Amino acid sequence: MQLHLPPDISSRLIEALTEAGRREIGGILMGEHVGPDTFVVRDITIQRKGGTFAAFLRAVSEILGPLRAFFDSTKHDYKKFNYLGEWHSHHSFQLHPSSTDHATMCDMIMDPNVGANFVVLLLVKVGSRQNLEAGLTVYQPNKRPYAGNVDM
Ligand SMILES: [Zn+2]
Repeated sequence: MQLHLPPDISSRLIEALTEAGRREIGGILMGEHVGPDTFVVRDITIQRKGGTFAAFLRAVSEILGPLRAFFDSTKHDYKKFNYLGEWHSHHSFQLHPSSTDHATMCDMIMDPNVGANFVVLLLVKVGSRQNLEAGLTVYQPNKRPYAGNVDM
């Protein structure tokens, strides 16, 4: 999978990460399907990550509003514009999912209420040149997670 982060999304992420300092932050990714296995991030939410990742994911009240607004603005064309997955910051780790991250994402993709055929996990941090560094993992039901490509 190829995931493109347009400049406005990258700069929002860099700004939020810089402001958050050592605090972990995260949110959801909303995107557009632009070609075979190729997606562009069109909008994100930014939340402070409180407690466990699972607890953070359940902060749905903060997520439903922006998601609904995204669906309204894209005329409910779910085939093209949809929820893509989650992102969060990894300041002190490599940009690979932790075992908790893996477990949470696997639970999510296997949840019939989510009903997605894939979800992505984007891990981000600010690099030494104030650039955005990102790692992408793709989860599908009953399949092994694999690393996707991020371009900016
Ligand atoms: Zn993580």
